[in-house]
Amino acid sequence: MAREEFSTRTGFSANDLDRQSERRDDEAYIAALKADREARTFVVSGDNILLERDSDGHRSLFTFGETRLMGPARETVFLGHDGVGGIFATLLADAQQDLGPSREQLSQIYRNEEQPGAQAMTDLRSIVMQGLVSERIAGRLAEAKSLLYWHSRHRFCANCGAPTEVAASGWRRECTSCGAQHFPRTDPVVIMLAVEGERCLLGRQPRFPVGMYSALAGFVEAGETLEDAVRREIREEAGIATGRVTYLASQPWPFPCSLMIGCLALARTTELTIDRTELEDARWFSRAEALALVERTHGELFCPPKMAIAHQLIAAWARGEVA
Ligand SMILES: [Zn+2]
Repeated sequence: MAREEFSTRTGFSANDLDRQSERRDDEAYIAALKADREARTFVVSGDNILLERDSDGHRSLFTFGETRLMGPARETVFLGHDGVGGIFATLLADAQQDLGPSREQLSQIYRNEEQPGAQAMTDLRSIVMQGLVSERIAGRLAEAKSLLYWHSRHRFCANCGAPTEVAASGWRRECTSCGAQHFPRTDPVVIMLAVEGERCLLGRQPRFPVGMYSALAGFVEAGETLEDAVRREIREEAGIATGRVTYLASQPWPFPCSLMIGCLALARTTELTIDRTELEDARWFSRAEALALVERTHGELFCPPKMAIAHQLIAAWARGEVA
C-alpha cells in the first residue's frame, strides 16, 4: 500500500472476509456453503462469544456439528468467505444479556482449566482488551456481534408490529404481514480532536476510569453532515467554536453497532464552557502532554488503549503525522 490508511491502526479493522454480498439471496449457494465440511461459525449468546482453549490460544470458530450440541440456534447469518469456506455466526436461542460468566469468573475458569478444550463465554470487549484472538478474528467478531445484535432487536416489524423473518442470509428481515423490508443498521458516531496550534482538546466522561481523557464524541443526527456533527458536538460539550474539519480514520465499533468516524477540527476559540451533564472535565493538552498520555508517561493521566480510534487520533496528532 502506497500510503497506510489510518483506519488500519484501529481494533476491529482487520476483517478480511469476502462478504459476497451479491450472493446472499442465492439460497442454494449459501446452503451448500453451510453444508460444506469447511464451514465454520462463531457462537454468540447475548453479548457473549464462545471461546475454546486450544494448544496455542483460543478458538472461536466451530463446525455446525459442534454448535448443535450447544442448544438451538435462533438465527444463523452468513458473514463471508475466508478463501477456504463459508464463515457464519450463530445466535443461540436462549440468549440473555446476563448469560455467561463475569470477567472475574472467566479468569477463574481459565486459571482452573488451562487444558485445551475448556470453553467459556465472554464479552467481545474483554476478548479484545485481553488479546484473546487475532486482529483478523476480532474484525470478524465485530461483524458477527453487530449483525446479531440487530437481529435480536428487530424480531418485530417497525411498521406494523407483526413478526419478521430473516432473509438474504441474515442481511435483511422481512415482515410476515405487511411485507416491509428491514436492513441492518450501522450508527455513525463522530469522534474528534479539536486542535488549536500546539494544543488539543480532550475530555472525560464520569464513567471513564479515573485519570483517563479521550477525544470528544457523539452520534451524527438526522440531516447533518459529518463536519456539522463534529462542530456541534465540540460546541455543545466544550463551548469551543471550530472551523475546518478533516476526516482521518474510521473504526467499526460493535457496542452495539456503531461506526466511529475520526476527525480533526481546527478551533477558532479557546475558552472552555463545559457541559457538566456530558463531561466531568475537558481541557487543552500540549503536544508533549498528548504524547505522554499515549505513552503512559503522564503521571496519573492516560488515554484509551491502542485498539481504540481515540488513541490513534491522539497519537497521530501528537507525533505530527496529521495537522
Ligand atoms: Zn409489517
